[in-house]
Amino acid sequence: MIKRDSSDFCPDCKRALAQQQPHTRLKVIGEEVILPGRSSTKYTFFQCSTCGHIWQHIEDRGFGGYGSVYSVLTREW
Ligand SMILES: [Zn+2]
Repeated sequence: MIKRDSSDFCPDCKRALAQQQPHTRLKVIGEEVILPGRSSTKYTFFQCSTCGHIWQHIEDRGFGGYGSVYSVLTREW
């Protein structure tokens, strides 16, 4: 368990989110899943071992194109 006093991203996460690139402290969690649709979409989940935030990577391949986006699922409530 990672318990923190703030929900801020660690510097690695901040930089990586801005650059849309994973960083080395992100560990894959769970299983990747590929869901069908007009183009198949692959979801990969990560957790940062420094700050605990959970990331999602969405990859889309279809119609000869490729899309990739990283976003963070953990938010302050
Ligand atoms: Zn982090």
